[in-house]
Amino acid sequence: MTFDYQIVRSKRKTLAIHVKHNQVVVRAPLKAPQYFIKDFIAQKEPWILKKLAEQKQKAAEIFAFEHHSTILFLGQKTILNIQKSKKNTVVLNDNELIIQSKYLVEADKIDEAHKHQKTQKLFENWLKQQAEDYMVPKTYSLANELDLGDRLSAVKFRKTKSKWGHCSSEGVIQFNWLIMMAPESVVNYLIAHEVCHLAVMDHSRQYHELLGRACGDYQGARQWLRENEHRLFFSS
Ligand SMILES: [Zn+2]
Repeated sequence: MTFDYQIVRSKRKTLAIHVKHNQVVVRAPLKAPQYFIKDFIAQKEPWILKKLAEQKQKAAEIFAFEHHSTILFLGQKTILNIQKSKKNTVVLNDNELIIQSKYLVEADKIDEAHKHQKTQKLFENWLKQQAEDYMVPKTYSLANELDLGDRLSAVKFRKTKSKWGHCSSEGVIQFNWLIMMAPESVVNYLIAHEVCHLAVMDHSRQYHELLGRACGDYQGARQWLRENEHRLFFSS
């Protein structure tokens, strides 16, 4: 084998392979003989190698907040231009996002990592503001269009690790503002997804009928998100 794997035995009847975070884990019944497990892995080798390659590719696409790194904004590749400045400003200029940071010139005891963090925060606040400006009016107008306006009580924003949106039974819709890096069609899909939950809380057929009316190609948008969402998170 060209890869390492870990065998986890438990009270189960069948073998299963999981490839996650670049690690291969084989789940096996307590008494499954070693040769049986090895055969199974050998059979699945092409699939495992494909998965490992995909995950490696994805890991490489996660961007770091650094001068000249490329991010997505509304699906467009945008280059970060981070500059020292007397005041803090963030300006989008075609495919360049110019971030001027006074933190980078501060000649005090703050260490470099901290300055970098504070500069990143400027970018995050900018992105969150973009999300508010774009998504709040759209959410209200779609809710009104679908005759659900009276059920929508608030639109909130939060950066979460695992969720793009949420709709509570009290009519509070919450979005992860990192979605603003995705193409506009995907942002619009997310808005439609949550607004439709004002009418139907689950993902039933009835829900999808409404979603289909509210958002043309929701399947395409969902697919994009499934394949690319790792590109919307960044490391610092
Ligand atoms: Zn949902």
